[in-house]
Amino acid sequence: MSYRKLSEEQIIDYLNKDSCSPEIENLIELSAGRSREAFGSRGYVFAQWGLNCEPCSLDCDFCSLGEKNFSFDSKFSLTVEEAVEGLNRTDISMVSDIFMMCTADYPLDRIYAIGREVRKRIPRETRLVANIGDFDRDQARALKESGYTGFYHIVRLREGQDTKGDPAVREETIRFGMEEGLELYYCIEPIGPEHSSQEIAREILRAQELQPKVMAVMRRICIPGTSLYKHGEIDDADLTKIAAVTNLAVLPERAMNVHEPCLDSMRAGINQLYAELGINPRDTCENTEENRGFSVTGAWNYLEENGYSKS
Ligand code: SF4
Repeated sequence: MSYRKLSEEQIIDYLNKDSCSPEIENLIELSAGRSREAFGSRGYVFAQWGLNCEPCSLDCDFCSLGEKNFSFDSKFSLTVEEAVEGLNRTDISMVSDIFMMCTADYPLDRIYAIGREVRKRIPRETRLVANIGDFDRDQARALKESGYTGFYHIVRLREGQDTKGDPAVREETIRFGMEEGLELYYCIEPIGPEHSSQEIAREILRAQELQPKVMAVMRRICIPGTSLYKHGEIDDADLTKIAAVTNLAVLPERAMNVHEPCLDSMRAGINQLYAELGINPRDTCENTEENRGFSVTGAWNYLEENGYSKS
């Protein structure tokens, strides 16, 4: 069966529908079928490693690391050696892509050095991804030369309003990264009940244009004390609907992710999940693997239950 990307009108129409309606059930089935056809039974677990616990100047209203909402008792920033050593906390042989994540202010020179050292220790085919602040063309080149194969960078929902990020600068970073040969990992996030169908659709359409091979949707997790806590979270059914709409609008080539996953959302044809380690903007525990973060085994269990495996 050939799948055509959903149009703007279809995206908004589906997002407006009741998430438990028969039309959305059909859409979820269609999304699962498209994933099966495009991805076969190939599943992926990515590992994300949080490198620093410091107030971040981008100050996103939903984040436990934002300057005004900083929610941790202590502050620290891993050295190159500590960052590399930290990877021993997970089974690298079970992950295909490793993400190095930091706040917007973490020194780029250290990100490069970590890339060089990690690259020496991981299999050649393992992808290394930078989840960092904005960068320019020279810095994109330096990331590539340091061993990174990709970058996670997005224009967030209400960027510039709920964050101090500038959407134009975010777009420019995405362009620099892609033009310098880094693979873009994209996500519609952080989705909350306050976002209209039009706002979500605008970001899905942006992703449709960028055409990432790996696509994701993520709901905002309510961190007590943060400015957006008052809005609450979208429920599992809404998350599943948005995942199905996004999958069918973007038609990613390699993988579709949902974050943080729930079993219901896996029905939308999800073949990729994250294992998370260390600091996390959706957590207030310094080692998210002891709290919200999935382990590699936990992520594989979810995927395998839904018919996706490592080979
Ligand atoms: S989400 Fe990222 S950029 Fe925003 S405040 Fe948190 S760490 Fe900084």
